[in-house]
Amino acid sequence: MSDVREYKLLIDGQFVDAALGETFETNDPSTGDVVGRVAKGGRDDMRKAIEAARKAFDSGVWSEMPQAERSQRMAKLWEILMQKVGDLSQIEALDAGHTIRMANLFSIALGVEHWRVIADLANKLGEYQPVPFQEFPAPVWGGVRREPYGVCAAITPWNFPFILMMWKAAPALATGNSMIVKPATYTPLSTAEFGKIVQESDLFPPGVFNVVPGAGGAAGEELASNAMIDKVAFTGSTEVGRRIMQLASPTVKKVTLELGGKSANILLDDADLDVAIPGSLWATFLHSGQICHSGTRAFVPASLYDEVIARMVELAEGLKVGPAMDFETDIGPLVHKSQFDTVDRYVQIGQEEGAKLVTGGEGVTIPGYEGGHFYKPTIFADVKNSMRIAQEEIFGPVLSVIKYDSVEEAIEMANDSIYGLGGGVWSRDIPRALGVAKRIRTGTVWINDYHLLSAVAPFGGYKQSGVGRELGEWGIREYQQTKYIHVDQTPRKDQKFWLQIAGL
Ligand code: NAD
Repeated sequence: MSDVREYKLLIDGQFVDAALGETFETNDPSTGDVVGRVAKGGRDDMRKAIEAARKAFDSGVWSEMPQAERSQRMAKLWEILMQKVGDLSQIEALDAGHTIRMANLFSIALGVEHWRVIADLANKLGEYQPVPFQEFPAPVWGGVRREPYGVCAAITPWNFPFILMMWKAAPALATGNSMIVKPATYTPLSTAEFGKIVQESDLFPPGVFNVVPGAGGAAGEELASNAMIDKVAFTGSTEVGRRIMQLASPTVKKVTLELGGKSANILLDDADLDVAIPGSLWATFLHSGQICHSGTRAFVPASLYDEVIARMVELAEGLKVGPAMDFETDIGPLVHKSQFDTVDRYVQIGQEEGAKLVTGGEGVTIPGYEGGHFYKPTIFADVKNSMRIAQEEIFGPVLSVIKYDSVEEAIEMANDSIYGLGGGVWSRDIPRALGVAKRIRTGTVWINDYHLLSAVAPFGGYKQSGVGRELGEWGIREYQQTKYIHVDQTPRKDQKFWLQIAGL
């Protein structure tokens, strides 16, 4: 598919041009070719979208629809989405450089599945929860009502545009909110296509779901600061996350943040190396390392270090770097030339810091794809945890392998990071691995696995990796206000002991 896809803004159920008539182009990271032309929303467009979402919310047309019906409508959309997995996967491959294998089996397929599970779970959780009967200070039957926040903003990054949008859209819509999504300018196409699918389905009233691509500094800042927005859900860098918190603070918005990471992947000395070694490469090199929770710091016991490095290098050198649309490709392109340059700079930094480059460390030119941004899977040995390549998020296919003498030391180094998003432990002894997992200060730890995220389990960060959780019951609750309703069981005046307190 080499056609250029064109998208307008989706505001209030209409596809419209941007107020200033501006558009921007997006490029295929494998070729550099233009693949999309998208209306570029500015502050005025964002305000229109926010007003539409506010109006839709306040009308009750979606927010007061019975939960079961909202979830049913979402289930109908899921049926439509199932027919679109192939097309959406192509879009994600051409716009965001997902290998077509990963898009089909993982990033798009999982996003569609998460939509279904979250819509269903919101219905099962319901909107009312009784609290236990309490005798003192007065006999009360009370209950908690879960109510939508109102107008929710979703600001998403370029690396996994579709699934990260679904993690916000599914719980927000299932619980009755209206929303506006702003995808990243590098990779807006799958979100814009999803907006089109939503609109054409006729299942969602106008204004409930709006898509406004645009620059972070204008459209994004309007979304994070506008007084009519009740909640901001942001996924992106820690630096911009800090800014989002500042922008949201004057109007005291609810904010959830999914930010950067530098996750530790600990191989214990009893790990099954036949799984742990390829598992560690999967933990780092999936999507060329452009994943927030990538296990980019591998901790390896001194007794196994040389063997593990040698086997990692051999495996890494067998991975096929190539264009995203090629089913044979293991490692696709980096999203953009600027990301390529960042990765290359960190490789220089690693060498200057004294780490030993054992494989990779340079770009690859693929014949016929000279405009692509391909980088070899790269491994550094002899890395110290204090080095910048072990402390800073590179967001590329670069693995730092760190030697440890005792498990205690490995845990200490794993936790010596401003981030706390993910992590892995590899061992044949599950109780032992659980003991290590408990002590890692991150929101997710995989044991003998990596990257697999369940729709019903929470995902999010400790420390500077974020605030709040996405997915599962935890993610759904982030889109609901908690209202306590108190029902008195002592209606007669002479039973009202507080009248005596007040002297009334
Ligand atoms: P980014 O922070 O540069 O941008 C993310 C989004 O914020 C984009 O839509 C961008 O346009 C918008 N934005 C930028 N400046 C803004 C501002 N001042 N106000 C409002 N919005 C603004 O991140 P990125 O480069 O697109 O993505 C890579 C980063 O995302 C990495 O740090 C990665 O770790 C992180 N990430 C985190 C998770 C997670 O779940 N924790 C998942 C994926 C990516």
